[in-house]
Amino acid sequence: MDMNDSQRFWSKVDVRDDKDECWEWQASKDKLGYGWFRLKERPILAHRFALLGYDALLPKNLFFNGSCVCHHCDNPSCCNPKHLYLGTHQDNMQDIVDRRSSKKIKYSTSKRD
Ligand SMILES: [Zn+2]
Repeated sequence: MDMNDSQRFWSKVDVRDDKDECWEWQASKDKLGYGWFRLKERPILAHRFALLGYDALLPKNLFFNGSCVCHHCDNPSCCNPKHLYLGTHQDNMQDIVDRRSSKKIKYSTSKRD
């Protein structure tokens, strides 16, 4: 494990001073807007690396029962770890349903650690 991967990663993210803002991925994105990062010759989703670091390389089934990295902010290219959480696929779907039914609530900036 060298630090270069993570330095390389964060150099592609628009890191803001404000930790409540979305930090958007600046490099390659797919059609859905998700950022992709090459790590050890493997493409991985940028927001997964943002939250999990090298654990993002683990096969999905080895890792927290196939849980996924979800966005609180509904911004697929966002890599702000504060906006990311580990959830099951079902959580993610429920989150989307909840958000739709409450007409797109923006990520609350009032929460503080
Ligand atoms: Zn965000």
